[in-house]
Amino acid sequence: MLNRYAKTEDRWVDRLKTMSGGEIKEIQLAKIKRQVSYNYKNSIFYQRTFKSAGLEPGDIKTWDDFYKIPYMDKDQHRAAQEESIEEFGHPFGTLACAPLDKIVRLSFTSGTTGAPTIYTLTRNDIIITNMLNARKYRFIGLQPGHVVINGFGLSMFAGGVPVVDALWDYGVCVVPLGAEARSRRLLETAQLIKADALFCTPSFAEYLVEQSEEILGIPIRELGLKFLVCGGESGAGVPEFKKKIEEAYGARLFDINGAVQPLHCTSCDCDEYKGMHFLSEDYCYLELIDPETGRSLELKDGVTGEQVFTWLDWEGTPFLRYRLGDVLKIHTEPCSCGSPGMRIKVIGRTDDMLIIKGVNIYPSAIKDLLLKFTPRITGVFRIVLDRPGPRVEPPLKIKIEYGEGVEAGALEKLKLEIEQDMSSTTRVRPEVIFVPPYSLERHGYKTRYIE
Ligand SMILES: [Zn+2]
Repeated sequence: MLNRYAKTEDRWVDRLKTMSGGEIKEIQLAKIKRQVSYNYKNSIFYQRTFKSAGLEPGDIKTWDDFYKIPYMDKDQHRAAQEESIEEFGHPFGTLACAPLDKIVRLSFTSGTTGAPTIYTLTRNDIIITNMLNARKYRFIGLQPGHVVINGFGLSMFAGGVPVVDALWDYGVCVVPLGAEARSRRLLETAQLIKADALFCTPSFAEYLVEQSEEILGIPIRELGLKFLVCGGESGAGVPEFKKKIEEAYGARLFDINGAVQPLHCTSCDCDEYKGMHFLSEDYCYLELIDPETGRSLELKDGVTGEQVFTWLDWEGTPFLRYRLGDVLKIHTEPCSCGSPGMRIKVIGRTDDMLIIKGVNIYPSAIKDLLLKFTPRITGVFRIVLDRPGPRVEPPLKIKIEYGEGVEAGALEKLKLEIEQDMSSTTRVRPEVIFVPPYSLERHGYKTRYIE
């Protein structure tokens, strides 16, 4: 038996294939109107937001009206939580739209500084989340009968329990090991149960390649995994990385996005990486803005900007125009896999952004660029900052591990090549500092680029 959404879902996905952009926007606008009334009725935060903009829910009739709703960001999210704790003794009173007795799950954003921002989910929201996750699993070809190891950190952050729950609900056989299991247990389990798929961060997938030789004494491709489903970092969207990992595992690598947030997308089976197909347009309205000016950008082919979401049909915390700090690039030209609609590539986070003489640069973009030079370098690097970013006094110092077997005499030429390549592609000339292979610390399942 396929999961319980299969029938209606197939109908929706079929419909999506024949729908024009205009028709999708019509559905989105109808949902936005409902969502706006719901939020206003149930949340002090949204009553205040609308009043500050001189709006009432009934004013939102067209897209132009919708664009008058102010953006919100993580700082406002945290402030609303704190205010609620003071006033109500818990963090859900100001922002959340559902009463506490309807909230059945909390998730948090990970990684950044400050108190975690809380997402409150009702049963309705979990059903939607699982359904949107299922779309991705079906899209990449996972089916009941496949054995899946979840190697994302298992805490209630996005990739953990919510992913396990969605996989269970979809009907595959899931082993909820988590990144906490460490590489030995994970590799030995994969070998024992003949796992078909591994879900984890790209850097953990890369780390396991080395670990397999060390722990199991075999190349990782002998495990016979068929699917590697990576997310949480941008690495899986780098063509050189995808090729390297697919060869090492003898498996297909899919770049996947979305767990507690409504933007669900996944890359397809094309050999070449062409961004992730956006599969949740009916539950998520996506906008892109210039992170510095807040100006809205047209979603045309090749545009890069900070993502802004509006949650559609959600009950717990259905945010309107939330700036999440992720920077995306949009592709609209048709994909050779034949699936319609927009595709998305994650470029980085606005908080990771470095500004060198007016040029914005993301560590993930540096990673993409350096991968061209493997195996002459290992691909592991650190950006060395004398003081916290985003503004960096030039030159931008990058510690790079040279590859095994590279002669000392070849390093000067390699240094020049990398510096020239980076300065011609990014307009930033770095200062490369070579360090021996495997001398920089590996963090296992999470990569840190800045030192
Ligand atoms: Zn495709």
